[in-house]
Amino acid sequence: MLILGIESSCDETGAALVRDGRYLLSNVVASQIDIHNRYGGVVPEVASRQQIASIIPVIEAAMQQASCRWEEVDAIAATYGPGLAGSLLVGLTVGKTLALAQKLPFIGVNHLEAHLYANWLRAGDGQLVGTDWRVQEGDPLFPLLALVISGAHSELVLVHEHGSYELLGQTRDDAAGEAFDKVSRILGLGYPGGPAIQKMAQQAEDAYVQQQKSVNQARKAYRLPRAWIRGTYDFSFSGVKTAMLNLAEGASRSMPAEQRAATQVTQYTRMGEQAAQHGELDVALLASSFQEAIVDVLAVKTRLAAEEFRVKQVILAGGVAANLSLRQRMAQELKPLGVRLSYPPIDFCTDNAAMIGSAAFFHLALGERHGFDLDVQPGLSLPFKK
Ligand code: ATP
Ligand code: MG
Ligand code: FE
Repeated sequence: MLILGIESSCDETGAALVRDGRYLLSNVVASQIDIHNRYGGVVPEVASRQQIASIIPVIEAAMQQASCRWEEVDAIAATYGPGLAGSLLVGLTVGKTLALAQKLPFIGVNHLEAHLYANWLRAGDGQLVGTDWRVQEGDPLFPLLALVISGAHSELVLVHEHGSYELLGQTRDDAAGEAFDKVSRILGLGYPGGPAIQKMAQQAEDAYVQQQKSVNQARKAYRLPRAWIRGTYDFSFSGVKTAMLNLAEGASRSMPAEQRAATQVTQYTRMGEQAAQHGELDVALLASSFQEAIVDVLAVKTRLAAEEFRVKQVILAGGVAANLSLRQRMAQELKPLGVRLSYPPIDFCTDNAAMIGSAAFFHLALGERHGFDLDVQPGLSLPFKK
């Protein structure tokens, strides 16, 4: 089954052609990062208007890249939530309209479920082997534990089977990606925060190694809090964010008043940057210590849950799954347990339409369809069983 997937939940516009939920024929993503970087984050109205400008060219490019004709497409899928309402409306409406025009089945896809299904994707023009569409060689093994860590979500989810989700824990405040983005603003490193902080952390760690010190020393250079919330699988990242803000504020206050005034950029977010420029803070070491604080909690909690629920595999999903330090640490934690680990290639961790085409397959294969009255659901969550 060849599916055209469409993604427009936030500031990425994506279209992809995916066969049988796994094989990727084409994938096109137009990102608005440069536009939103100017504001330090995503501006919803700007994002939805940009979706309108990008969506048709992106779909045309995906069709072209796969040398695909409309007669070859079996179904159309588009994200209907969660995300920004204005952005979601663009992809959903275009998807439904194309399905109507081409007389194809249509299905709306849950963006979070799609982040999980990025782990089923593989490159190349393959197809289903045999008749069991549920399990193919190379698929993640059930029962599995999914760590969903994105810009707006941080959840530990037990997945018994396709579509069978049990929520083990979630963030009580900021999402992991949100913490990276906010701290990046404090440090003046720009948007999106995750890649910027990872890069700075790497610089600090490389420098330490060159000075015959250990990577771990760099990661412990600043003492930052970790919210373990013991006895639960919940997360909390607002404490470490506030600690970073306090460090930046404290350093900024200790600067001579005339210097502080002279370097006042915007009200609060660039304080860390100013302090760093005047040698009060080491931004690279701060980035390393902050990243370690986030990775530490995510990896340890995931390992504990993997042990308790005796899963066969852990999968990472969402933008923060692109983090190299997290991937390494996660592998270290799981190795002694003999639990497999997988994560999507970097480009398929953040928003893309390939994962939409993959998730759609596992619903379409069950005969599910959506009517043309399907509306966007900005607050949609995974369909938890209990
Ligand atoms: P959601 O999927 O919850 O609706 P979203 O779609 O905005 O939110 P994603 O696109 O999945 O989120 O992920 C974006 C987030 O991933 C951003 O917060 C970004 O900083 C973070 N991120 C991207 N790359 C990295 C990285 N290498 N390390 C850490 N975080 C990263
Ligand atoms: Mg994005
Ligand atoms: Fe996302």
